[in-house]
Amino acid sequence: MQPEEVPELPEGVASRLREEGIEALYPPQAAAVEAGVTRGQSVVASVPTASGKTLVAELAMLSSVARGASGPRSAGAEGPHDAPVDAPRGKALYIVPLRALASEKKAEFERWEAYGFDVGVSTGNYDSDGEWLGSRDIIVATSEKVDSLIRNGAKWIGDLTCVVSDEVHLVDDAHRGPTLEVTLGKLRTLNPELQVVALSATVGNADVVAEWLDAELVESDWRPIDLRTGVHYGNAITFDDGSQREVPVESGGRPTAALVDDALAGESNGDSGEDVEGGADQGSSLVFVNSRRNAEASAKRLREVTASHLDDEERGRLAGLAAEIRDVSDAEASDTLADCVAKGAAFHHAGLAAEHRSMVEEAFRDRLVKCVSATPTLAAGVNTPSRRVIVRDWRRYDGEFGGMKPLDVLEVHQMMGRAGRPGLDPYGEAVLLAKNADTRDELFERYIWADPEPVHSKLAAEPALRTHVLATVASGFAHTRGELLDFLDQTLYATQTGESGRLAAVTDDVLAYLERNGFLEREDDALTATSVGHTVSRLYLDPMTAAEIIDGLEWAADNRAEMVRALAGGGGGQSVARANAPGEADGDAATAGFQRASELASPTGAAEGGSADIEEENGSDLPDGPDDPEDAGLPDDVTYPTALGLFHLVSRTPDMYQLYLKSGDREEYTERCYEREPELLGRTPSEYEDVRFEEWLSALKTARLLEDWANEVDESRITERYGVGPGDIRGKVETAEWLLGAAEQLAGELGLPVVPVREAKKRIEYGVRDELLDLAGVRGVGRKRARRLFEAGIETRADLRDADKPVILRALRGRRKTAESILENVGRSDPSMGGVGAADGDSDADSSDWGGSNAADRSRDDGSRTDPEEQASLGDFG
Ligand code: ADP
Repeated sequence: MQPEEVPELPEGVASRLREEGIEALYPPQAAAVEAGVTRGQSVVASVPTASGKTLVAELAMLSSVARGASGPRSAGAEGPHDAPVDAPRGKALYIVPLRALASEKKAEFERWEAYGFDVGVSTGNYDSDGEWLGSRDIIVATSEKVDSLIRNGAKWIGDLTCVVSDEVHLVDDAHRGPTLEVTLGKLRTLNPELQVVALSATVGNADVVAEWLDAELVESDWRPIDLRTGVHYGNAITFDDGSQREVPVESGGRPTAALVDDALAGESNGDSGEDVEGGADQGSSLVFVNSRRNAEASAKRLREVTASHLDDEERGRLAGLAAEIRDVSDAEASDTLADCVAKGAAFHHAGLAAEHRSMVEEAFRDRLVKCVSATPTLAAGVNTPSRRVIVRDWRRYDGEFGGMKPLDVLEVHQMMGRAGRPGLDPYGEAVLLAKNADTRDELFERYIWADPEPVHSKLAAEPALRTHVLATVASGFAHTRGELLDFLDQTLYATQTGESGRLAAVTDDVLAYLERNGFLEREDDALTATSVGHTVSRLYLDPMTAAEIIDGLEWAADNRAEMVRALAGGGGGQSVARANAPGEADGDAATAGFQRASELASPTGAAEGGSADIEEENGSDLPDGPDDPEDAGLPDDVTYPTALGLFHLVSRTPDMYQLYLKSGDREEYTERCYEREPELLGRTPSEYEDVRFEEWLSALKTARLLEDWANEVDESRITERYGVGPGDIRGKVETAEWLLGAAEQLAGELGLPVVPVREAKKRIEYGVRDELLDLAGVRGVGRKRARRLFEAGIETRADLRDADKPVILRALRGRRKTAESILENVGRSDPSMGGVGAADGDSDADSSDWGGSNAADRSRDDGSRTDPEEQASLGDFG
């Protein structure tokens, strides 16, 4: 089928596709069109990786938007432009499986803007309704984001005519699947005519998914390029067709290195072993391993292999790329990555900064980087075809399983599917590694001959239902228990399960939990969300997170007097705080490692613990502890709850992914726990309550990371101290910011002190100590620049408006443009820096001007975009 033959495509689309080299639709694409995907028919496409699923989605979205809200036309109707003239345009939503993919997809769809289709990506906070998206034709978002938009009442959701769910097999994922499942259910309830296009890897039961979604099924094994799969053992790969390819491994050598070297040797990879001249046929390799550490270690070894296959031109370009990588961040991972890339190898995992990840992907697609060692996240979504895929680790540590667990067939097949670059390779090769003949046979059985598993709904798990039942009631999808069960009856879970009673039983448990915690009220069969329940749902919190936060804040209010005395060094609260810690050494809270609240107080003379501008800005005079009449006689230089106490509180909720305790950590954090106990909001569990105590310490370790960040500790120092990547710091910081924002709203709603929570949130948002909060909030300033301005005597926004320009310019390292935009943002009447004396290092080409023209860009220093020289100047505040 040619692009012109596709019915209902808007004008220009077919010729554009042709310009892009798409002369004919791939067979699964043609099958989807025949099934009616461009006529508004719902379709489940279960096809292998790289077989062109995105184009199926594009055809569906473009035709749906152009056709408008008139609903699917009858099968006989022909022609692209005969929609009623006054029909409103349609609207399409593309649900991505990973946040990292959202901008990538948006960029891909933006080429349709030239044909009149506006594209928008929904990122940002979970508590907005994304109103501006109402004007877009195609919207890209994660399922969590869509769920939150529905909870916040985004009106445009009701205008959707087409929704695409990419990687729909992830409904099987215990953590994220239920949200996708419920979100698709809600979208369909809101828009009964909605076209659903679900794209899936090949799974064992695509027919069940299609039945659930009332969709036509397109199922195919077709691939654009042949795939040969096999197992390497000894000195050869044995392929699925029984053929062998010799790939000798020197004694003491590693098979992965031999396989990467063999692919790069430039042979045509055919059995003939025919030589092909030049580097064009050099084969790249993708090596899948089971941990980030292994990915880095593997890349470090393999760079010695790739280095020997580079020519001078490539070495030059790689050196340039390595320098760019170093510029992104000063963290150690950045150096390691740059060192590898300079030699033509790279690693890729979720701990890398997003910019590093996309640089690696692009350089790999450009064939500049010859080998990438990756964790399985790369297999999902990102289009990085490779001549050879090596699945080195087919087991992964799994805590619940209690050891190394073999990967799912589905997952291994997705990795293998990355093999073969259409137009470049004669075929792709995907190889598993075996150390002995038995394992080789096992791998053939387990992965090469095996069919992928069926997907199973995980909705009936209690944590998932807890969240979704509350949201379903709060956003008015169900007003009674009966309606709730009816709604749940449309889910994949209900399609799959024979036991109808099970879902009802778990639902009843969940309703009881929500009622007990004051999120829901029940009267006979009627269900209503309480005001707090509504807030929890809108804030996108797991109700258990909200309950933990509320308990912690209430505990702080109840025990305030004692804890403040303990913090001030009076010791009054210690006996209480230590009640569950018998036999522990008598620590003094005001000694080692403990930061006196008075040290955090603003030196500008603003109200306790805060800066005048912030309070003004937020127009708040909510209770701030020390003003409370009950606090008469308490020391007034103590901010309570402290930032650490709040960081710990949010870190122990199920919405925060806590840091692991490594060996030796238990002792260290036990000690710290007792040092800082008066700050923690709740009673420390006894050491004999093993699991709870361990969780308490993991939360403390996480809270300490957040505290380091808010104390302006260098990013590289944090990565070393906690054994994490820069991407992890970013993830924790974003989660903490969201949870503290939620805590602030809950506190306000419950009449609990708000200001300490807001300040803790701001410190996380900007990554600064108290005294910089005012300055760091100015767009374009961020943590490093705020500190330098502060050291130059410019301590507040007001100072920034009055200070001598040469002083400002010097503090900003002579960056005029940056200085001007900062002065503009702070409202200085004469922001121009023209003619102002330049300090050393004056440069107008300030590439790190993250002060940002982008309005959505928040003012905090984004660690992933900081220039290393700035980081180095920060010094160590740890
Ligand atoms: P999937 O989502 O199935 O993994 P993609 O949609 O990313 O696969 O497609 C893989 C590649 O194939 C893309 O580079 C895409 O441009 C290309 N492609 C898709 N359809 C066609 C076609 N009909 N003809 C040629 N190339 C195509």
